[in-house]
Amino acid sequence: MALNEKQEREKFKLRIAGVSLGTHRYSMTCNKTFFELTELSELQDGVVNVQIEMENSEKMLILDFNFEGTVFTPCDRCLDLLSLKLNFSEQLIVKLVADSKLYQNEDNIWYIDENEYELDIFHFVYESICLALPMQKVHADDENGNSTCNSDILERINALSAKETSIDPRWEALQHIKDLNH
Ligand SMILES: [Zn+2]
Repeated sequence: MALNEKQEREKFKLRIAGVSLGTHRYSMTCNKTFFELTELSELQDGVVNVQIEMENSEKMLILDFNFEGTVFTPCDRCLDLLSLKLNFSEQLIVKLVADSKLYQNEDNIWYIDENEYELDIFHFVYESICLALPMQKVHADDENGNSTCNSDILERINALSAKETSIDPRWEALQHIKDLNH
């Protein structure tokens, strides 16, 4: 892992050992390095600011996240990059227990050992962003209802798929002979 990637991962580890009771605030930015680190993702770039308000009460941390920014992902239709604005909130509750192995984590409720030094929220942040993306990621239509997709690429894709679906007449004739023989 390159040094800047290591530093990027570190940003998402919140120290919880010895943190006083009450409210604590953190902020971090998900940038290109962040999205590159997640590898599996179709997100290629972006800037998303994450504000966290952590309430530390006895044996429990309540983290309120606010995400705001823009991510870039390929358009489902034309494959050109598409920018998506994000602005949403998430909550994560972390319960500090004697033996976290006895508990099953849920999406928004985690159990960690009470002597844990830090809380790693990298995957939580990443998954929250992924879940906030719309199902259909396509360029919006303009005010006249016309697609704003890259028309050159669309034409090429249409030409390709037309070629694939059209059946070669010679093949069709062969298929007919084969059917007759059965
Ligand atoms: Zn498009």
